[in-house]
Amino acid sequence: MPSGKSESWRARDRKVLWHPFTQHALWESEDFPVIASAKGCTLVDVDGKEYLDGVSSLWCNVHGHARKEINAAMKRQLDRVAHATFLGLSNPPAIELAERLVEIAPKGLTRVFYSDNGSTAVEVACKMAFQYWRQNGKPAKAKFVGFESGYHGDTVGTMSVGGIELFHGTFRSMFFPTIKAPSTEAYRQGVTLEESGKRSLEAVASILRTHHRELAGLVVEPVVQGAGGMITQPPGFVAGLRALCDRYEVLLIADEVMTGFGRTGKMFAVQHDGVTPDLLCLSKGIAAGYLPLAATLATERIFEGFLGELKDRRVFYHGHTYTGNPLACAGALASLDLFRKDRVLEKLPKKIHLFGNLLQDFYSMDQVGDIRQIGLVAGVELVADPAARAPFPYEARTGHRVILEARKRGAILRPLGDVIVLMPPLAITERELTRLVRIAVDSVRTVLLGQHPA
Ligand code: PMP
Repeated sequence: MPSGKSESWRARDRKVLWHPFTQHALWESEDFPVIASAKGCTLVDVDGKEYLDGVSSLWCNVHGHARKEINAAMKRQLDRVAHATFLGLSNPPAIELAERLVEIAPKGLTRVFYSDNGSTAVEVACKMAFQYWRQNGKPAKAKFVGFESGYHGDTVGTMSVGGIELFHGTFRSMFFPTIKAPSTEAYRQGVTLEESGKRSLEAVASILRTHHRELAGLVVEPVVQGAGGMITQPPGFVAGLRALCDRYEVLLIADEVMTGFGRTGKMFAVQHDGVTPDLLCLSKGIAAGYLPLAATLATERIFEGFLGELKDRRVFYHGHTYTGNPLACAGALASLDLFRKDRVLEKLPKKIHLFGNLLQDFYSMDQVGDIRQIGLVAGVELVADPAARAPFPYEARTGHRVILEARKRGAILRPLGDVIVLMPPLAITERELTRLVRIAVDSVRTVLLGQHPA
């Protein structure tokens, strides 16, 4: 029920704002929550209504909101210095965080390059790969392989390696050339995950065999493609990519912007397969969802490929104003401390198991076609016609209607088309998790039954 404070904030929002991924002609009539505060896994709007944060505030919150340890660390840092440039200077939190990242990252990643969001983390990796070959004797290696349904950000570079038609199609003529490999999408194709993984790897092998002389790198969201619809990969898929990249001298760029920091059950998703990528892109969970921060980790081999005399011009000419921001790094350090103190990773298997059991309730509805889960990440795919695995029309906004129902019941969700995403903070309690899934199931049921009366 719209009420006083929310309504007046919404009116002011509608006058001056332009929101991401939003058709504003429809925004005008939507009673979107205006969030005033948060605690733990609960967001609170300006009227005091509470909502479970079912998507970790867009896949980034880890330990819950307003954790006193993170707040205190950032307040301490704020009293010292909020920002000083990293161009020509350094600062203790950025140095300490880099040391800690190298410590927890897959072995062999020894250099940390900071930036401030997921897109830049990937853009930096692509530029490093490109420049690496250019100044190390193989300048023809200048193209990238990406995946269909891949998502790496909204800058022109990261859209170029992405593969989501709805988001990227309009801008295609701006992109640099890439070669796209098929994703591991299995449900719509009517094959097993193992089969789709095998097909995808065979396609990658064929692309690399034919084009390796012109390929700088392969960019992948390891273990699960996020924005493409939570499309999971079978075990061994990432190891398969590693082997192919090794064989054909193509740099493996792992985009763990979403999967990093425990989301899939391990600290980093590549660790499911025991793989070290050449470049690892991190953001979102790195600062526990408190401030924008990103890091691109590189192997020593790549780093050394940039060393030389000034006259060689081997400098990586890339940097952002807020690179190495001490405040964000202080938050990230506090988050890593919490991983230890709260034994976050140790507690995950039980929650992941419970999550998996709870998700089965969705299958009580015919139009739930597929449920894909890895760790505390799940995508529930709704279909108009289960026999044909056919989607609802785009204009029906089925996924969106589900999240409006969830809001009424006290949870914030965000769909990817008709895939309902559930990705709670790792700190969620079993009780909250049970409530979250229940709300999501009830919301889907209301929408589906409303649409196709039983
Ligand atoms: N890569 C992946 C895998 C992502 O999920 C995202 C964001 N959803 C990005 C990159 C882009 O991150 P940002 O929105 O911070 O630019």
